[in-house]
Amino acid sequence: MRYTALLAAFFVLLTGCDTAPESGPDLETEGTAYIGATVWSDGQAIPNAALIVQDGRVVLLDSLATTAITDEMDLVDLSGHYIVPGLINAHGHVGIADGLDTGGAAHSEENVREQLSLYATYGVTTVVSLGDEPEEAFTVRDLMDPADPGMARLRLAGPVLSPASEDDARETVLDLLDLQPDWAKIRVDDQLGRGEKMSPDVYGAIIDAADEANLPLAAHIVELEDAKGVLEAGADLIAHSVRDTEVDEAFIEQMRETGVCLTPTLTREVSTYIYAERPDFFDDAFFRAHADEDVLEQLQESDVQERFTGEAADYYREQLPVAKENMMTLHEEGVTIAMGTDSGPPARFQGYFEHKEMRMMQEAGMAPEDILQSATAHAADCTNLEDLGRLAEGAWADFVVLREDPTEDIHHLEEIEAVYISGTPVE
Ligand SMILES: [Zn+2]
Repeated sequence: MRYTALLAAFFVLLTGCDTAPESGPDLETEGTAYIGATVWSDGQAIPNAALIVQDGRVVLLDSLATTAITDEMDLVDLSGHYIVPGLINAHGHVGIADGLDTGGAAHSEENVREQLSLYATYGVTTVVSLGDEPEEAFTVRDLMDPADPGMARLRLAGPVLSPASEDDARETVLDLLDLQPDWAKIRVDDQLGRGEKMSPDVYGAIIDAADEANLPLAAHIVELEDAKGVLEAGADLIAHSVRDTEVDEAFIEQMRETGVCLTPTLTREVSTYIYAERPDFFDDAFFRAHADEDVLEQLQESDVQERFTGEAADYYREQLPVAKENMMTLHEEGVTIAMGTDSGPPARFQGYFEHKEMRMMQEAGMAPEDILQSATAHAADCTNLEDLGRLAEGAWADFVVLREDPTEDIHHLEEIEAVYISGTPVE
């Protein structure tokens, strides 16, 4: 819709527009102005705002009262609504499952695109997929136009690195580079005694090789000792909560000094045991709206339910309060928490689990604004995402329009009116 001017055009949106390409639109006047909403970005809320978008990017965010809207602009009146930057999942996965099936059946570009669309539907506009994606996911990433992705943006880590020895570490990293990964991922975990844990010498060699290749590295850990070890060796992201014991002063100090972030992935823990019985969230309309009924039925079959019982399920259920407490301790001590869920493997429902994660963060005691920051600006900073996570001048116009104020209660993030990626609404 095109309206006439609301206000006198004394305010020039962009100065220096003579440097713009000649073929481009007139930066002084054209674009879309989203007006009247309360826009929250990077810890600040602007009531009755004007958010102006051109060519998929934010060119201005300010109070509507002090912003000139020209009559060449398209206006979208969002009075009574709330806008937040598109949510970022700093630890997800794509293309590794299709329903409860893994392996070849899940490895298709179509499946990856469907999953990225599902994330986007839930307001998750960027996914940092931390490992084990098929090559098809790289194809989808590489074909994506950042100015018009039409689905959640994607970053990838490729095969999780597990060289047999220190000597193989460098070659493993070099092989990975062929895929042009955004991240590398390692797993330092003995699978609760069922496997062999990667030794400090081996992960040290991988971290050094990744560092030499300028490739940031995320480490899967369960135990405090290993979290300390990978940090000492130079890891760039702790991909899960510490679950075996309370974090101590030394670890907090290490996290602070290195500036490394942690993704709590609380919903990952839940997913290991919750399906032993029919979970309550199967009745949640927000979940059901996009859930595959066949998958829900399968998850209620007794032989499937049984897979979610036993030693591992018991361990993760019992240690979940430790994970939450550690998240809060680190948060309160000034360590940056990046929202991350580990969604994507079977029965870790993409899109919905991010909201479940944020509700769990709130239940653990985190303030709604801190959670929002964790899922936007912090998630972007922690995973090296440029021009994302904030509705700042020059950033991609990825945002979620809500009917309720999410700074009051994080549940309000579920009141989604529309999701925009690069200024284009997604279905
Ligand atoms: Zn993961």
